[in-house]
Amino acid sequence: MSKLRIAGIISESVVDGPGVRYTIFTQGCPHNCEGCHNPQTHDFEGGYFADTDDLFDEMMADPLIRGVTLSGGEPFEQPRPLAELAARVHAAGKDVIAYSGYTYEELLDKSHKEPAIMDLLLNTDTLIDGQFVREQMDLELKFRGSANQRVIDVKRSLEKGQAVTFEFE
Ligand code: SF4
Repeated sequence: MSKLRIAGIISESVVDGPGVRYTIFTQGCPHNCEGCHNPQTHDFEGGYFADTDDLFDEMMADPLIRGVTLSGGEPFEQPRPLAELAARVHAAGKDVIAYSGYTYEELLDKSHKEPAIMDLLLNTDTLIDGQFVREQMDLELKFRGSANQRVIDVKRSLEKGQAVTFEFE
C-alpha cells in the first residue's frame, strides 16, 4: 500500500491509449505548458490521496480494462508509488502507458538521482513524452496533443540506448 496524490481517475477511458483503460490523473505538475487542458492538476498540494492498493483492486474488478494509463499532472513526480502499482499491473497481465511532460532523455537523466524514475520506466510499456506545445497541437494525432510529443516503446528504447518511437494504429 502506498499513498498517491491524485486529481482523479476515469475508470473506463477510451481516449488515453488503446482499448478500455483505467486512467489515473496524478496531482502536481511543474511544467506549466501554455494551453494545458488540466490546470487544476498543477498544484502539488491539491487533489487528494488515494491508496494504490485500492486503485489496483478497482481496476482489476473490471474485466474490460486492458491496462492502466498514468496521466497528469506529472506522473514522474511520484515515481515510487506508481512504479509499485505499474509492477502489479504488469504481473496481472495488463499494460502500462505513462504520459510525461519530461522527455524520455530528461527522465533518464533524472533517474540517476532518483532511481524510482528508472523503476517506473522499467514498468512502463509506452511513454508519451514531452510538454504540450500549443503551436504544434494537432487533433489528428492519436492519444497525444502536439506533434513534438513522441510515442515511445520504453523496453526497446532501454535496450537500444535511444528512444524508439512508433505510432498507435
Ligand atoms: S505536462 Fe501536462 S498537466 Fe503538466 S502543464 Fe503540461 S499539459 Fe498540463
